[in-house]
Amino acid sequence: MRLDTRQGGQAKWRVPLSDVLVDEEILNAVSDVVSSGWWSMGPTVEEFEEAFAAQCGCRHAIAVSSGTAALHLALLAAGCGPGDEVVVPSLNFVAAANVIAHSGARPIFCDTVGPANLNLDSADVEAAIGPATRAIVVLHYGGYPCDIGAMLDIARRNRLEVIEDAAHAPGASWRGRMCGSFGLAGCFSFFSNKNLPVGEGGMIVTDEDDLAAGLRLLRSHGMTTLTWARHQGHAHSYDVVARGFNYRLDELRAAMGLVQLRRLDDRNQARARIVARYRQGLDGKNGLTIPFAPDDREASSAHHLAVVVLPEDGLQAPMRSFLKERGIQTSIHYPPIHRFSEYAAQPGRRLPVTDWISRRILTLPLYPHMRNEQVELVIDGVLNALEEARLGLEP
Ligand SMILES: *Cc1c(COP(=O)(O)O)cnc(C)c1O
Repeated sequence: MRLDTRQGGQAKWRVPLSDVLVDEEILNAVSDVVSSGWWSMGPTVEEFEEAFAAQCGCRHAIAVSSGTAALHLALLAAGCGPGDEVVVPSLNFVAAANVIAHSGARPIFCDTVGPANLNLDSADVEAAIGPATRAIVVLHYGGYPCDIGAMLDIARRNRLEVIEDAAHAPGASWRGRMCGSFGLAGCFSFFSNKNLPVGEGGMIVTDEDDLAAGLRLLRSHGMTTLTWARHQGHAHSYDVVARGFNYRLDELRAAMGLVQLRRLDDRNQARARIVARYRQGLDGKNGLTIPFAPDDREASSAHHLAVVVLPEDGLQAPMRSFLKERGIQTSIHYPPIHRFSEYAAQPGRRLPVTDWISRRILTLPLYPHMRNEQVELVIDGVLNALEEARLGLEP
């Protein structure tokens, strides 16, 4: 079998933004499940949940169909609903804001620390809290742990729940504890471009037994027994005790997840090496900067994203097209949520740092099996693109 055939869009890039590794182990894991004849949620999902909980140092892990489903269920289980407000960073993927709104609560957007730290700003979180605030959904931007100590402290003083959007942060830690394990619940995504890719999938981790039981109910229609238990003859009937969803993960993806989980530490270390090389080649060069300090004893990153901050406004678009012409795919993480039509329509808070930073950030290719010459191609490409784009800006 040929393993290096890319039939998707990746073939047209010399350096794609992200990429998955296809090998025999992952193909065998999937084909074993297919051969078993049990494809929907069952023993492989349970095994994946147990392994994930152990890796996170949490009592429970509940596998779901996506990171968005994880956030949705965590919000519902935390009791968020109509009349509530939930604070969430605007420099973020839109999923958390959408599911906050779906729960009936209102997302209240908060600002970013600054160009050296793209995580949410604790002072602005504090400023965003009002009498209706019920929870904070924190993000570990790019896999770099946010100031979770400050967030937990704010939450304790204001009697709020903390939900961690750890979509970027599997394997990241803060003071030796895994990201995702600090709040009431931690939510992970296994989308193809994330650090633990299976296609589509997610996980919620928590130490709370009751919350875990509630999440399992909501994941599967609010039904008291599962198809797998009935299949094994453990149960003949069921009751429905909540208005649930079908947010289950299937066995094929759980089998891929088990393989990817075993590789996570090595893969994250490979990402870290590439980011270190980017830092060496780009940080401080011609006004470019790379946010976040290198790992220290306080925080260890999962290095989900490689982001540079550009020295001027107006460089993003020309640099992106220059790099595209050279086969280098880039992105912007993220266009701020409070500027999207759906959310700009509501009266909101001023978020000057997010507005400013979103015009300056550029995300570079990053995936564990990037070859050295690809990394060097990106570094040279970015420095050349910056020069070209600046020439274009001159009057
Ligand atoms: C990817 C992502 C999600 C959503 O995960 P899906 O699995 O795609 O639903 C949520 N939040 C952040 C920050 C993400 O990057």
